[in-house]
Amino acid sequence: MPRQAQATPDQSGPNADRTRLAVCACCELDFPAWLADDEADDTRGWRCADCGRHRGDELAMVREHERELRLRLSQATEDLAAETHRANDYRRKMQAAARSRDHVLAQFARLARHHRATEHGCICGKRNCETLTVIDADWINDRIAAMYRLG
Ligand SMILES: [Zn+2]
Ligand SMILES: [Zn+2]
Ligand SMILES: [Zn+2]
Repeated sequence: MPRQAQATPDQSGPNADRTRLAVCACCELDFPAWLADDEADDTRGWRCADCGRHRGDELAMVREHERELRLRLSQATEDLAAETHRANDYRRKMQAAARSRDHVLAQFARLARHHRATEHGCICGKRNCETLTVIDADWINDRIAAMYRLG
């Protein structure tokens, strides 16, 4: 994660940008700048609220840094899992929709072999074949042709 060295906390009133991040001088993780420890100064840099608490206590420091890293790891893992799930779900739905469309078109293509217009009406024997009027629509024939073109 790139350091955002320029991002310093801005606590100047209710309009302070709450999305801005600062990098903690202690744990080196980024954190919302508005949560910076009040005692931060320019020589030591900004500390996140946790690191403000364990200042001077090395054991607490190591423990809290580890806990924070674990939290972020599990959050990142969950985000990734949710993202992957959404992507897979979408791909599955797209494939199912395409299969179902191809299935319908294949049915039309099958019907088209048994119904075709001639001078004497449909080849199925009916003079006014309803099936023919349905499958003979240009847009259906276009789609059937496109389906076979795409394989
Ligand atoms: Zn920190
Ligand atoms: Zn710390
Ligand atoms: Zn027919």
